[in-house]
Order: sequence, then structure tokens, then C-alpha cells
Amino acid sequence: MPDTRTVCRSCQGTKLARHYLCGDCWAQLPEPARTALNRRDNVAFRRLVDLHTQLREGVPLHEIEVAPWPARPST
Ligand SMILES: [Zn+2]
Repeated sequence: MPDTRTVCRSCQGTKLARHYLCGDCWAQLPEPARTALNRRDNVAFRRLVDLHTQLREGVPLHEIEVAPWPARPST
């Protein structure tokens, strides 16, 4: 049966396509980061990029910070 699973960028496991991370990794994010990432507005994509950037840089899940309004320049 076709499923909508994709790869978790943190642990390379599988996750639901509509989720940013798998459940295990998501649970390790600090609560403020989860709250910020759960917002759905016109800068939601920039927060996701912010999350992915930190994952790529090897920031531990429990130290990841995602602001509701990204402070990093978009360039
Ligand atoms: Zn994961």
C-alpha cells in the first residue's frame, strides 16, 4: 500500500511526509522550537530551513532553536 513516508533528516529513519521530523526526533526538540515550527504562516518555510540548517550543522536536537520569526537574513 502506498504510503506518504519520507526520510527524517535527523536520524535518517522514516517519518510522515507532513511532519518535519520523525516522532522520536521531534520529541527531543525543545518545546519553544516545536511551538515555533508548528506555526503555519508566511515564514513557516523559513523556520523549516532554519531547522534543516541546524541539523546539517550537527546541532544536537535538544539544542536546536527556532524563533517564531526568523532573525537570520534570508540571503
Ligand atoms: Zn528522526
